[in-house]
Amino acid sequence: MKKMKALVKAKPEKGLWMDEVPVPEPGINDVMVKIKKTAICGTDLHIYMWDEWAQRTINTPMVIGHEYMGTIYKMGSGVKNLNIGDRVTGEGHIACGHCRNCRRGKKHVCQNTIGIGVNRDGAFAEYLIVPAENIIPLDDRIPDEIAALMDPFGNATHTALSFPLLGEDVLITGAGLIGSMAVGISRFAGARYIVVSDLSDARLEMAKKMGATLTINPTKGEKIEDAVKKLGMYGFDIGLEMSGSPHAFEDMIDNMYNGSKISLLGILPNTTTVHWDKIIFKALTLKGIYGREMFETWYKMEQMLITGLDISPVITHRLKVDDFMQGFEAMEEGNSGKVILDW
Ligand code: NAD
Ligand code: ZN
Repeated sequence: MKKMKALVKAKPEKGLWMDEVPVPEPGINDVMVKIKKTAICGTDLHIYMWDEWAQRTINTPMVIGHEYMGTIYKMGSGVKNLNIGDRVTGEGHIACGHCRNCRRGKKHVCQNTIGIGVNRDGAFAEYLIVPAENIIPLDDRIPDEIAALMDPFGNATHTALSFPLLGEDVLITGAGLIGSMAVGISRFAGARYIVVSDLSDARLEMAKKMGATLTINPTKGEKIEDAVKKLGMYGFDIGLEMSGSPHAFEDMIDNMYNGSKISLLGILPNTTTVHWDKIIFKALTLKGIYGREMFETWYKMEQMLITGLDISPVITHRLKVDDFMQGFEAMEEGNSGKVILDW
């Protein structure tokens, strides 16, 4: 049996191992992608660390990873409209195609979703098998390393574009990878002021490069309400919660304008308490965000990238895949931007 190199969660404990695994074969409607570049996601870090979520979710051994780009190496006989050699990336959630949501065009909330690199073998390997429907052909104007970021860029796009932004004042809590990309998207989509909070100055620097008007670091006594006063506002029109922190969420609710809207991407702990009276009396709209809309979010991403949105400032590490541990360590330390692994 032919073997390939892959990053495997081989054992149920902290760590990740570079292993030799059998080369997978595409089914009739599958595409086999030869991987060129991948990126490390927060989810991969959870799997590496083997936290409570990972222990509950991952069956070992599992090839992990879901942020990737490459070229089509082989295809099943049922695949249409794609060609060997095409540069591609892909949607990491595989929808079932037959549940109520799939059949009404809402595949991103499919009731039977399977995650690449979480529930089945992923992209941190020389080859990846993906259903043809999930494949996204890449425009020549999108560079390889940006193409490897399309999955989290899609989370940022789905969240940021959930409500119209033109002329609006936006508060983003959490200037991580996704929050910082959301700054660029909000700017691109015509927001007026974009205020961003994070506990890390390195992360806030990234948000500034992406176009933030003002940044707030609560660990230095800086307050979102001071930014509201400084900019002469009554409160924010749009909130993008991208930290998963209950404190940040509470702060956000306090600083929203009456009748404004919040998109929730960050995964808040189930024990989070909020002042529901404020949400009700301010008549706020809250929307939970999961993944990317299939496939409208992908269309918007492509158009933004080819008409001038530059998300490259979020990349801080470019490594050979054999140096993957350096990447995971940088992510664990918490101040890095995106880590790209070259295969
Ligand atoms: P990240 O860890 O890179 O960014 C989170 C940032 O929040 C960090 O920079 C951290 O310093 C900051 N933060 C923590 N506490 C804060 C506080 N009190 N105030 C302000 N900032 C604070 O994560 P990411 O990859 O950018 O993802 C953002 C969030 O979205 C995470 O919670 C992640 O789990 C979640 N996520 C959700 C989906 C989904 O489909 N809903 C998909 C991907 C990621
Ligand atoms: Zn479905």
